[in-house]
Amino acid sequence: MNGLQTFPSVNSLWQATSHYDGDYPALTEDKQVDVIIIGGGYTGLSAAHHLASKGLQPLILDAHPIGWGGSGRNGGVITAKYRMTFPDMASQFDLQTARHMHRIAHQAVDHVAELIDDYGLERACFRRSGNLKCVHNEHVMAQVRNEVEWLRRELGDRTLSLLSKEQVAEETGSPAFVGGMLATDVGTLHPLNYSRGLAAGLTQRWGTMIHCHSSVADIRADSHQVSVTTSGGQRVTAAQLIMATNAYSSLTPATRFVRKRLIPFRSSMIATEPLSAGQSASLLREERSYVETRRMMRWFRKAEGRLLFGGRGAFGKHDSQPAFDALYRAMVELFPSLAGINIDYQWSGHVAMTLDALPHVGRIAPRICVAGGYNGAGVAQSSYLGTLAAQFAAGESPEVALLDIHRLRAVPLYPLREAGIRLMAGWYQFLDAIGR
Ligand SMILES: Cc1cc2nc3c(=O)[nH]c(=O)nc-3n(C[C@H](O)[C@H](O)[C@H](O)COP(=O)(O)OP(=O)(O)OC[C@H]3O[C@@H](n4cnc5c(N)ncnc54)[C@H](O)[C@@H]3O)c2cc1C
Repeated sequence: MNGLQTFPSVNSLWQATSHYDGDYPALTEDKQVDVIIIGGGYTGLSAAHHLASKGLQPLILDAHPIGWGGSGRNGGVITAKYRMTFPDMASQFDLQTARHMHRIAHQAVDHVAELIDDYGLERACFRRSGNLKCVHNEHVMAQVRNEVEWLRRELGDRTLSLLSKEQVAEETGSPAFVGGMLATDVGTLHPLNYSRGLAAGLTQRWGTMIHCHSSVADIRADSHQVSVTTSGGQRVTAAQLIMATNAYSSLTPATRFVRKRLIPFRSSMIATEPLSAGQSASLLREERSYVETRRMMRWFRKAEGRLLFGGRGAFGKHDSQPAFDALYRAMVELFPSLAGINIDYQWSGHVAMTLDALPHVGRIAPRICVAGGYNGAGVAQSSYLGTLAAQFAAGESPEVALLDIHRLRAVPLYPLREAGIRLMAGWYQFLDAIGR
């Protein structure tokens, strides 16, 4: 099968409630376009939007139906942050850089809102209901307090406020937290309706060509053009190419540049049966997105009348029931009133970690641009970095600060990365367990 690595398909709550059909026919003939985009997730779709609105002709090739990757599996938690904190950016680099990165993070959220508004994607259910970071111990609460003060003082961020232990307990229905940090300009969406709605909008408005079941097996570039060959043997030529394959860059060897620079990490989700009226009224009352401060972070929200709970998944290539069971136990530990509730959906997918904990975008060769490495916080970031990748492909040079692709280092000892992931996860779990 042309070196195509297979992954099982997904049976998620999002699939079960999807409004759109994300399946487009495979490419069956050779084509010539302006820009080839490999990957039809948020990165590729928003790149296509930007290119089409500039009058260029993009063509998206995906090995799977739209939303098969992270852009149909995620929790729909929208945040304006990176894994590296803004104070850390200021101390490792400078205040100006932290300010720029903060601006990009918020522009990314605004960009999601604009796309949804522009294409009339009501089914994406985007709500700026806020994100509450739930703090799991006093040591971390002190850090969070300092961070909020710093962000207000140095970056003028007025979207953040602190919540007391009582306020967090009242809102979440969980007594497990010592306080929280509320960010008001972010929120939640239905991830699959967002990606598939965007794909439908692109084809309707611009006639954008989207071909699924068309994995790119090979890429060739010379001084005149770039061309790809699909698993079906079709050839597409263009002036530019964008790799938008993120955590799924190991499907074929064609995107090895990205694969060698990202560490795929499995993230899992469970969705309960519909909550009772009482459970719904007492848990996550404000219907925001919620994340924990543990290093092995868990997140939760309500959607479709259910509670969704996410966290680390199984190691290795496949899902495992014990990993889902561990999530269930963690959920009940935080929300004891859910003891015994049934799980209707469970699914997982890969997020792409980078060595510097930041995503990256830019040009890697005269005719090839890349965006990816969202470190598990990619709904807004990938939507925005897709646009930035399109700007690079269109010959512009947007100022991307620490997101510059040339900062994206190859993972050393790549064949040993599985063992490295286990070691890192074990270390993080240890630090969480001792409260650091
Ligand atoms: C379980 C889970 C929960 C998450 N929760 C959140 C969350 O709540 N909030 C948040 O901000 N982020 C979250 N994320 C991360 C977020 O989903 C991703 O960062 C984002 O979707 C990345 O989008 P993308 O377009 O770059 O990649 P993807 O959506 O993964 O798309 C990549 C596409 O490339 C295609 N592809 C790969 N190789 C080839 C090839 N050779 N030829 C053709 N096609 C190819 C794949 O088929 C795939 O469709 C989560 C991720 C997972 C897995």
